[in-house]
Amino acid sequence: MRDYREIELWKDVEEDEWNDWKWQLRNRIMDLDTLKKVINLTPIEDEGVKSSLGKLRMAITPYWITLIDKDDPDDPIRRQAIPTIKELEIKEEDIFDPLFEEVDSPVKGLTHRYPDRVLFLITDQCGMYCRHCTRRRLAGERDKTRTKEELMAGIDYIREHTEINDVLLSGGDALLVSDNILELIIKELRKIPHIDVIRIGTRAPSTLPMRITDNLVEMLKKYHPIWLNTQFNHYKEITDESKKAILKLVDAGIPVGNQSVLLKGINDCPIIQKKLVNELVKIRVRPYYLYQCDLSQGISHFRTSVGKGIEIIENLRGHISGFKIPTYIIDTLGGGKIPVFPDYLISMSDRKVILRNYEGGIFSYTEPIDKISYCPKNCDLCDKEPYLESKDGPASMLSGKRLLIEPTESQRIKRRNGNNTKHHKQ
Ligand SMILES: *Cc1c(COP(=O)(O)O)cnc(C)c1O
Repeated sequence: MRDYREIELWKDVEEDEWNDWKWQLRNRIMDLDTLKKVINLTPIEDEGVKSSLGKLRMAITPYWITLIDKDDPDDPIRRQAIPTIKELEIKEEDIFDPLFEEVDSPVKGLTHRYPDRVLFLITDQCGMYCRHCTRRRLAGERDKTRTKEELMAGIDYIREHTEINDVLLSGGDALLVSDNILELIIKELRKIPHIDVIRIGTRAPSTLPMRITDNLVEMLKKYHPIWLNTQFNHYKEITDESKKAILKLVDAGIPVGNQSVLLKGINDCPIIQKKLVNELVKIRVRPYYLYQCDLSQGISHFRTSVGKGIEIIENLRGHISGFKIPTYIIDTLGGGKIPVFPDYLISMSDRKVILRNYEGGIFSYTEPIDKISYCPKNCDLCDKEPYLESKDGPASMLSGKRLLIEPTESQRIKRRNGNNTKHHKQ
């Protein structure tokens, strides 16, 4: 990490200014000439900055620049921030909106995918534009918060849908919104009786830690339960500043989770991942998800195999404390987040379960003879939320609500429908 006073560009900046998130935002590096003054660029970066900005703008906080090794093109901090010409490559597997966030969007900026929770993109602005951004189709488009009308339309939808109990405010970066507008949104959400949890999705603790001000946490703690998820991808992002930001949040009673992205050449190594999660829990951040890199356009150079993710989890589970281990997730095509793990269940009979552990030992577990659970029917929860009626998917099959789930488009189903039509015509 460099001392900013040793960088010519900022040598006269007062400490108060440096520690002011608005100063950091105003002074983000957004053009090639300024970037060249602070980093020794490689040709693919130089070209990349010139050519890829039409796709996703570049903006790097001065703070983040100080974390970069200016002479090392493979620096993991640098690769997350400085565009290269590889972003221009669009592979055949790339997809404009790979998570179908717009397909599943009833109101602009809001995605309602799961039964009880929604994703609400309140701004397209970020402190820094990560080069691996999954939402690069919209991030940084205007570098602004949504209009009040758009925000209110999202809140109206949430108010009308009583099945929603958890609202995930994201963007862009949900903390790039001013304290006033953020409070306005949270206050409106808190007036809705069916909303329990408000979650904030932000990379500010890593890219712009000065954003976590005393004012902000004083405001947030009035509206508990507030949860927050951030994104640290490499242990080098954990600095005195980011630690200070995180401690403010957790001391205000806001649980902080980490959602990292598995990135080729940045953190695609079990040893780096282990160090990352160890450092995170020291600052009281709970690793939550590790994402397989999405199929967004122009980020194929950041993607690893799925096997790499499985290898990382294999190297963590059992080897380190369970609460340090994120769930490895593949998210694609509207299917939502799908967890993937190495297999631990080796075989079964009607009494025996055969398992392997992290050391490769094989163990049996004997099930009870009377193993059927039964419902004593002495609680009234089912009346409030009928278990049999409320589930989709395999859960609904386990409860007996459904016997099968079949594709609507298979050849077999088409044949059957064709036959039925004939049958009716007779
Ligand atoms: C990730 C996500 C959520 C939240 O998922 P959790 O698994 O509850 O953290 C909700 N909605 C959408 C559209 C998401 O992508």
